[in-house]
Amino acid sequence: MNFFVQRSELRDLYDKVVAGERITDADALRLFESRDLNAIGAIADFVRQRKVGNHASYIINRYINYSNYCILSCQFCSFARKKRDADGFEFTVDQIVEKARQALSIGITELHIVGGLHPSLPFSYYLDMLRSLKKLDARLQLKCFTAIEILHLAWLAKKPVVQTLIELKEAGLDSLTGGGAEIFRKEVRSAIAKGKESAAEYLDVHRQWHKLGGRSTCTMLYGHVESLADRVDHLSQLRALQDETHGFTALIPLAFQPEDNDIPVRTPPTGFDSLRTLAISRIYLDNFPHITAYWVGLGMKLAQVALSYGADDIHGTIIEEHIFHMAGATSPQLQTETDMVKAIRETGRTPVQRNTFYEPIKILPDLAPSPADADTSGHSKTLEDNLATA
Ligand code: SF4
Repeated sequence: MNFFVQRSELRDLYDKVVAGERITDADALRLFESRDLNAIGAIADFVRQRKVGNHASYIINRYINYSNYCILSCQFCSFARKKRDADGFEFTVDQIVEKARQALSIGITELHIVGGLHPSLPFSYYLDMLRSLKKLDARLQLKCFTAIEILHLAWLAKKPVVQTLIELKEAGLDSLTGGGAEIFRKEVRSAIAKGKESAAEYLDVHRQWHKLGGRSTCTMLYGHVESLADRVDHLSQLRALQDETHGFTALIPLAFQPEDNDIPVRTPPTGFDSLRTLAISRIYLDNFPHITAYWVGLGMKLAQVALSYGADDIHGTIIEEHIFHMAGATSPQLQTETDMVKAIRETGRTPVQRNTFYEPIKILPDLAPSPADADTSGHSKTLEDNLATA
C-alpha cells in the first residue's frame, strides 16, 4: 500500500484501480475535485508502472509549420495570420525538404507537420510535400495534420474524408497529429474555437484513420474556460473511441497558453492543475498505452516531475515550435537528447528513444554505479560524465 493513499479519502479509488476496475466519470470528477495531489499521483503512478514498467520515452523529432495563414479565427489561437499580416508565412515544398534534410543530420526519426487552413494552397501541395519528404528518406516518419486540416484537405480535394486519407497515406502520411481536440463540449468550443470542426467531426476523422490501420495521438486543451466536468466529458469521449478502434497511441494534455488571443484568461494552468490533469488522464484512460507530458507547455522541469504523476513520455527535441511560443510559452525552442535523457534518468526511469508509434528504437542501459558515486560531492559530475559517454 502506497504511503500517500493509505489514509487518503481516495483510498477506495486506489483499491478499485489496483483491482483492475475501470473508474467511472463520477470517480474522475471526484479526483479532479480532490486536493490530495499526492494520492492522485500515487494512483496514476501505479497505473503507469503497470503499463510500461520503468521505461520513460522521448523522440528525436522536428516540428515544421508549413504556413500560419488560416481561413478561420479561433478565439484561443495566437498562431494564425491573414494574408494582410506582416508576420504571416508559408514555405514551398523545397524549403520544407531543406529543413528536413538539415534535421536528418542530427538523427530525427519523425517530422511533425501542421499549419493553418491555408486559403489557396491546392491539395496537390500536400501530396507533393509528403512524397518529397519520403523521397528524401523513406524511413522518416511523417506525423502530419490535425483533424480540421484533414477536413480542409477533403474539401480542397472534393473527396470524402476516407478517400482523402487513403491518398495522403499512399503519399507517405504515417500518423495524424492529435491537435485540434481542444475541449469537446459544444458550448466551450463555441467560446474558444467558433467555426472549428465539432467534436463528432474530430472523432470521426480519427475513427476513419484508425479503420484504415492508421494510428494517431489525441489532445485535450485545459486551463481556459472549461469546467472540470468538461474535462471528464472530453476524456470520456476519447476513451469511448479508443474502446472502438484502439487506434490512439497516447493522450497529450496541452496546458493553455494565454498570450495574444481573445480568451479572458491571464495565466497558464498551475503546476497543481497540470499534474492532476496528467495523473487523472492516466487513471481514467485505462485503454491508452501512453500519456505524454508536453514540455513545451509545461516547461521541462514540470514535465520531468510529471513522470511521477502518470506520464511515461516527455515528447521530443522539436527544434522549432511556433504555436505555443506565439501564445506566450516561455520554454526553450528545443531540447537536446542529452537533456531529455538526463531528465528521465534523474527520476530513476530507464530512458527509451521511441518512434512515432511509441515503439522503442533504443533502450539506454541503466548507469552502473561507479566508485565516485560513494562520494556525494562527486555525484553530479559522475552522472554528466556517464551521459557524455552514453
Ligand atoms: S487553431 Fe487552427 S484552425 Fe483555428 S485559427 Fe488557429 S490555425 Fe486556424
